[in-house]
Amino acid sequence: MTIRKILTEPDPFLRQKSTKVEKVDDNIRKLMDDMLETMYEAPGIGLAAIQIGVPKRVIVMDLAKDEKKSPLYFVNPEIILKSQNNSAYEEGCLSVPGQFAEINRPEKCHIKYLDYRGESKELKAEGLLATCIQHEIDHLEGILFIDYLSKLKKSMIVKKLSKEKKSLERIVV
Ligand code: ZN
Repeated sequence: MTIRKILTEPDPFLRQKSTKVEKVDDNIRKLMDDMLETMYEAPGIGLAAIQIGVPKRVIVMDLAKDEKKSPLYFVNPEIILKSQNNSAYEEGCLSVPGQFAEINRPEKCHIKYLDYRGESKELKAEGLLATCIQHEIDHLEGILFIDYLSKLKKSMIVKKLSKEKKSLERIVV
């Protein structure tokens, strides 16, 4: 397993729409292993392939709070039903470092996807799991959580991040 570099906003790559995986083969499994390792190292609870520069519809997650790992893998995830009710969580994102905002999303969602072995699965998610899945599926469409904020708030965050990026680049000589 290899730890990969996580792209951060602003980066036009993060705005790209990811393409469907044709077949869950060893290459895709290797990608998922790398993503999981990268996510644990970061640390985060969810990661989409586009965040490490691979525009494929692949997501990994692990919401376990204790030491014991319980990774989740979603290939070509699709939301087939969303609840009318919303719930709010304070969201952050590995691609938007150090920034958090309260975001409203449907409280429950029903998704279908392919698992690690390429088998077709369905899942009814609610609470944190539902929010996380929706956040990650947004990545596959090139959407970041800051897109739900007001224009002003969003531009302040993007400005701050680009400044941080520039000063970081200066150090790396
Ligand atoms: Zn994210």
